[in-house]
Amino acid sequence: MYKVNEISAKRLLESDDPEELKGLLKLADAVREETVRQQVCIHGIIEFSNHCQSLCAYCGIRGPNKTLQRYQMSPEEIRDTALTAVKVSGYKMLVLQSGEDPWYDTDRLIWIIRKIKSDQAAKCLVFLSIGNRDYETYETLYRAGARGVLFRFETSDPDLYKKLHPDCNLEERLEHLRYMKEIGYLTASGPLIGLPGQTIDSLVQDIFFMRDLGLAMASMGPFIPAPNTPLAGEKPGDIKTVIKMIALTRLIYPHVRIPITTALEKLGGMAVRRTALTGGANAFMLNLTPAQYRENYDIYPGKNLVKTHIHSLETVEELTKLISSCGRRVCKGWGTDFTLTKEDFNGSCNTGLTSSREMRQ
Ligand code: SAH
Repeated sequence: MYKVNEISAKRLLESDDPEELKGLLKLADAVREETVRQQVCIHGIIEFSNHCQSLCAYCGIRGPNKTLQRYQMSPEEIRDTALTAVKVSGYKMLVLQSGEDPWYDTDRLIWIIRKIKSDQAAKCLVFLSIGNRDYETYETLYRAGARGVLFRFETSDPDLYKKLHPDCNLEERLEHLRYMKEIGYLTASGPLIGLPGQTIDSLVQDIFFMRDLGLAMASMGPFIPAPNTPLAGEKPGDIKTVIKMIALTRLIYPHVRIPITTALEKLGGMAVRRTALTGGANAFMLNLTPAQYRENYDIYPGKNLVKTHIHSLETVEELTKLISSCGRRVCKGWGTDFTLTKEDFNGSCNTGLTSSREMRQ
C-alpha cells in the first residue's frame, strides 16, 4: 500500500498543482476500493437541542449568543423522530446531537436511548454527540444501549485549542475521547479545517491524530464563520484543503469511515459530493431534525438550509443515484468493517436504507 509520511502530506496540502491533486484523489479512491470497498453509508442526525453552556469561539450556538431562538425537543419527540427514521426510512445509524445542555440529564438520556433500543422493529446504532460528560455518565449511557460518540477534537494544536475554547483544553477533550473508546464506544472525531491561526503542520498532525486515536469515523469539515461569535469576521476554510484532507486521511488511515459533512457541501455545493466520494470519502450524514427546529440549529449561518443534506425522499433518491453513478452502492446497515454483536443493533441489520420508490409503495 502507498505510504504517506508527514513530509509528503505537508507537501501535498501545500501544492497548487491541479495534476498533483488529481493524482492524490485517484490514489485515495483506489485505496478506498481496496480497503472499505464500494459501500457508502447514509447516516442520520437529529439535532435535539441548541441550548449550550460552552464558549467555543467558532460556534453559532455558543452560550453567549443571545440572538438565537433556543429550543429543546422533548424526550418523546426525540424518540418518535428516531423511531420514524429507523422504521419508516430505514436508517441504521443515528446521531443524537445537542449543545452542552444539562437539562438532558443521565436519566432523560437513558430514557431516550432505551425507548429507541427496546423497539424490536427498530434495529439501529445510536451515536451520541452531547459534549463533555463524565466517565460514569458515558458508561451508563453505553449500558442503556448507545454505541457510538461523535466528539470532534477540533484541532490537535493545544495552543490554538485553548484560544478557541476558554472553558476547556485539548488534553481534557482527548481524555474524554480516550475513555469513551475504553468504555467500548465507536468513536467519530476529527478537526475543523481553516480555523484562524491553524497551520498546515497542525492539519498534518490532525490526520495522524485520527489514526492514533483509532477512530471508527473521521469527521472533518471546513470552518464557516458564524455571526455573533468572536470569529464572525474571519475567512472560511478552503474547500480544496478539505478535499485533500479527506484524501490524505484515506491514505494514512485506510480503513476509517469518512463522511461528507454538511459544512463541506455548504461551501462547495453539489459538485463537491462527487469529488469527495471519488477521492476517499464513503459516507453521508443527512439531517433528520424536525422542520420547526432545524433553522435554529445554526452552528454556522444557514446550516440547515443546505437542502441536499436534509432528509427527504428526493434527497435520498438523488444520493442513491449519485452513489450508483460513481460505481458504488448504498451500504446495508452500519457496514461490515466493524466487529459488533447483534445486540448492538438490537437484532440483525440486513435491510438497506429504504429508497423513496420503496417508501411510496
Ligand atoms: N456539543 C457537542 C456538539 C458540538 S456542535 C460537542 O461538544 O461535541 C458539532 C460540531 O459542529 C462541532 O464539534 C464543530 O466541529 C462543528 N462546528 C461548530 N461551529 C462551526 C462552524 N462555525 N463552522 C463549521 N463547523 C462548526
